[in-house]
Amino acid sequence: MEAILVSSCLLGNPVRYDGAGKRCGHALLQGWIAEGRVVPFCPEVAGGLPTPRPPAEIRHGLGGAHVLAGRSAVVESGGKDVSAEFIDGARQALAMAQRKHIRVAILKEGSPSCGSTLIYDGSFSGQTLAGDGVTAALLRQAGIAVFSEAQLPEAAAYIAQLEASPQAHR
Ligand code: SF4
Repeated sequence: MEAILVSSCLLGNPVRYDGAGKRCGHALLQGWIAEGRVVPFCPEVAGGLPTPRPPAEIRHGLGGAHVLAGRSAVVESGGKDVSAEFIDGARQALAMAQRKHIRVAILKEGSPSCGSTLIYDGSFSGQTLAGDGVTAALLRQAGIAVFSEAQLPEAAAYIAQLEASPQAHR
């Protein structure tokens, strides 16, 4: 049975920057939880950031790969550079995934850590751009498939494919 790394906030845990959770009640996710295959993780908390914390965005809306490569930075609304904490949290997420042989992640859309198709543009004005966050980018670089909470049917199809031919994607 494939284990799935899931953003902790999607399970309702109050780990978001605003001190709240963002529970996803979708039947697919609830089914995976009931099957015991969900591994919750919050990279920002793991990276040492407090909850609540100021909102953060990636400078110029560049994707997480640019932060990992030192070409951009994650900055809080007050201007503090928190790239080191974001990168540390991403590395911990990857280490956890690799320890548990996880090949699929469901991450919260829009986050500078977990966003997988959309992130904010770095201006703190609510504008989004296509791109991914730091953890999503690092997991992808390691070959882990990343889906958002809006792509659960696609994730389920991918998991079914992995389970139908367990060696195919190793
Ligand atoms: Fe949720 Fe990811 Fe943000 Fe943690 S870092 S609160 S898991 S979106």
